[in-house]
Amino acid sequence: MESLIDLQRTFFSSNATKDIQFRIGQLKKLKKILKANEDRLHEAIYADFKKSAFENSMSELAPLYQEINEACKKVEKWAKTKKVKTNVANFPASSYVIPEPLGVVLVIGAWNYPYLLSLAPVISAIAAGNTVVLKPSELPANTSYIMAELINENFDASFFKVIEGGIPETTELLEQEFDKIFFTGSPKVGKIVYRAAAKNLTPVTLELGGKSPAIFSENCNLKMGVKRLIWSKFLNAGQICIAPDYVLVHKSRKSEFLKSALAEIEKSDFSIENGNYVQIINKRNTERLINLLDTDKIYYGGDYNLENRYIAPTLMTEISFEDEIMEEEIFGPILPIIEYDDLDNVISQIKTRPKPLACYVFSNDKPTTNKILREISFGGGAVNDALMHFSNNNLPFGGVGQSGMGAYHGKFGFRTFSHYKSILDKPTGFELNLKYSPHTKSKEKWITRMLK
Ligand code: NAD
Repeated sequence: MESLIDLQRTFFSSNATKDIQFRIGQLKKLKKILKANEDRLHEAIYADFKKSAFENSMSELAPLYQEINEACKKVEKWAKTKKVKTNVANFPASSYVIPEPLGVVLVIGAWNYPYLLSLAPVISAIAAGNTVVLKPSELPANTSYIMAELINENFDASFFKVIEGGIPETTELLEQEFDKIFFTGSPKVGKIVYRAAAKNLTPVTLELGGKSPAIFSENCNLKMGVKRLIWSKFLNAGQICIAPDYVLVHKSRKSEFLKSALAEIEKSDFSIENGNYVQIINKRNTERLINLLDTDKIYYGGDYNLENRYIAPTLMTEISFEDEIMEEEIFGPILPIIEYDDLDNVISQIKTRPKPLACYVFSNDKPTTNKILREISFGGGAVNDALMHFSNNNLPFGGVGQSGMGAYHGKFGFRTFSHYKSILDKPTGFELNLKYSPHTKSKEKWITRMLK
């Protein structure tokens, strides 16, 4: 690994990646490879957790193509030196900011969207002019393998290399000195990454998780809200960092909510056989989720099959913040529903817990929506929808506090992998001499007048 990092550092020092056309060429090549191998990419993810080709195209490959297309179109603009104003004290001069790549970058991916969460940060890193080492999650072994094969066969290791592996390999990688580490995964491992990066003062972006609430207020459009909520909760069997983790519903709408949610689930045909649902990633996670099923509180669902790694879409009711299921991020197809009657109380309950990655407000009352958006701190979210903010590249995607630091997508990804070098540029023909000694009274008078 040490020699790989040396190799990439040497290549980075050659300045080849500073050329915008080189970056665009590499991004187009990546897109071409993905396009040419779509069938194999579908097969690999199906073998890992039975994700269908439809879902793989919609939620993994299409966002990657969108990210590449946007970067190719806009990278020249993003990478341009930007002129800024100069203050009076520096007269006469011009000032500008030069975006520059950070260098050799490590990207560590999570398993739940193995292609998207590995390659989207890579696209931003390449657009910004870095070299990349990618370590995908080892849990979906087939997707990890195919990414390694396609990338390592088609790209020079001095520019872009995939290293497969689990904890030992990641630990070894984290012992190397990188110029940037971009990590997607759990807050627990995020702390390990942050600690390792601190040894070399390496900047990090941490895309972590948390318990993201969905709040249904008294005056929401319940039918539309429930339709969007059920889709976003059970897509990928709830294994999404920004999936609504739990619902807070006003008590006046609770029974209507439950009826609507049940009808929506039945209508949706969440079956693996029909390609509308996926398996839980492994047995360990299936067991963890089974242990969260409290039979006394199941309103709908609750069926499971450990061998097939299947958990049915499940609604749990009569839940309070004290229940076990409210302790940690669920990351599976179980939706606890808490009824409330006092919004202030709900807000203060959320605020005593770690800051969530997402928060969803279902309400047609502006003051209620604004109150929630203003008073609760969270990474990002949506009003009367869920998940879809992820797909808008004009919105920076990232967490806050325990749900992460830094952001990416579109130009925000470019920024994440860039340093903005500030330059004050002075002509040599003239000097205002005020700062030089001797420090006379008249100079002091001028300085005070200029800087008042
Ligand atoms: P994880 O933290 O277990 O693993 C993430 C990566 O870290 C993997 O590549 C894994 O190999 C590596 N890793 C695991 N243990 C390690 C260790 N001890 N030392 C070094 N490296 C280690 O996370 P996961 O199970 O892949 O994903 C689930 C979590 O990720 C959830 O908390 C979820 O919310 C979060 N997540 C966040 C986002 C986001 O964009 N914010 C996206 C997806 C998932």
